[in-house]
Amino acid sequence: MASFAPRPIPSPPHLRLAVVGAGAAGLVAARELCREGHGVVVFERGASVGGTWVYTPAVESDPLGVDPARNIIQSSLYKSLRTNLPRECMGFLDYPFVPRGGGDARRFPSHEEVLSYLENFAEEFRLIELIRFRTEVERVEREVDGKSWIVKSREMGGGGEKKREVYDGVVVCNGHYTEPRIAEISGIDAWPGKQMHSHNYRVPEPFVNQAVIIIGSSASAVDISRDVARLAKEVHIASRSVTGTVPAKVPSYENMWFHSTIERAERDGSVVFHDGSLVYADVIIHCTGYKYYFPFLETNGVLTVDDNRVSPLYKHVFPPQLAPSLSFIGLPWKVVPFPLVELQSKWLAGILSGRIELPSEEEMLKDVKADYQRLERKGWPKRYAHNFSDCQFEYDDWLAEQCGLPPVEDWRKEMYVVASKNKVARPERYRDEWDDDHLVEQAYKYFENLV
Ligand code: FAD
Repeated sequence: MASFAPRPIPSPPHLRLAVVGAGAAGLVAARELCREGHGVVVFERGASVGGTWVYTPAVESDPLGVDPARNIIQSSLYKSLRTNLPRECMGFLDYPFVPRGGGDARRFPSHEEVLSYLENFAEEFRLIELIRFRTEVERVEREVDGKSWIVKSREMGGGGEKKREVYDGVVVCNGHYTEPRIAEISGIDAWPGKQMHSHNYRVPEPFVNQAVIIIGSSASAVDISRDVARLAKEVHIASRSVTGTVPAKVPSYENMWFHSTIERAERDGSVVFHDGSLVYADVIIHCTGYKYYFPFLETNGVLTVDDNRVSPLYKHVFPPQLAPSLSFIGLPWKVVPFPLVELQSKWLAGILSGRIELPSEEEMLKDVKADYQRLERKGWPKRYAHNFSDCQFEYDDWLAEQCGLPPVEDWRKEMYVVASKNKVARPERYRDEWDDDHLVEQAYKYFENLV
């Protein structure tokens, strides 16, 4: 029988900790820190829990998301979004993401179902009382004693009360799907069409009868291209990873084509692709990912974000020089996020309690260096530093071992692999057709045995 309850702590040091963000990462971090007896305050600039999973039809004032003065919207969800992971494998390890009645019971449910799962999680573990809603962290900096942290926050709306408080540690859980990265396109400044980032895509209605170019091949690019194709005149997907001859019709669609990447945009409204094709387009939607962004954090140069690599970070959580009082939960991508942030949080909580030991600063830096060398040998650019496509379960299992927990369940690992293959084989239908019912059965058996 699996048990995820933390081991008893002889005499837990009671630390006062600030958690930035009440998304999935901040919620589970708060739970684990509380379980270890720490005092936790969660700062959340939104009015509710859930972060990414709080869908809003509202969009930012700059649809491309590059104007620093724009209003910021946290969530990048579109209305039609269903999860791209099966729910059994997606949920927290000790809080299964199973239908709880009245919601969307599908294996790949709508975003509303994920939000209600996170709301239930927050309620069940009494996390709401720890959260200061509508409160934005504006600045986090080291106290002069070099040990604690000053957190400056502002209540949003109303009086806008500002606070300056001192904490023993800060856990950064602010998410990394809000600050858009956009593609550079030669000639774009003179191109007369409209540009936007997928961060600000919600529904296909604004694209009725338009010619739309989608840049990218991520899960969002795939979903949004299909969503838009329902109403647009033409959809052209510009992608680095298309194989075979291009341009080519997307199977089962009369109005959608694959292309190579864009070569240039012209003043007359045309866009030329490297495959030699040319289209006149009304809109370009950049589905080109996001940047790590910590506008509130002042580390005096100890930590940098260089080509989207947050550095240096031991095991993607601790800056060695500031460990363990400053930590980051949820940076890795190409992962199953909920179990990963849960394990990172358990590890962090155990370290802050002194129950789990961190290596010396020197050893941590050595480990970071070795990791960078590993990436270099693979020929990966810095911006892939937190890409876990080839190591997520190894990492999860390492964290579990540090915490004295069993490795991630075999069915979960297998389900992730099988679901990823199914997505490639059935890009249009993978959410409703699959061949891994035997794994679903194993998952539910496992859930029944959870204590
Ligand atoms: P977030 O959910 O972004 O939460 C961060 C929180 O921090 C927010 O509530 C925000 O308001 C708050 N915050 C930020 N800055 C401040 C500040 N200065 N002061 C106070 N509060 C602040 N994952 C899956 O498991 N399955 C999926 O199918 C899936 N699909 C996805 C689809 C899309 C389009 C996107 C963008 C992501 C998807 N993900 C999916 C990944 C998803 O982001 C993670 O599941 C998870 O929600 C990340 O949680 P987080 O807490 O790290 O970040």
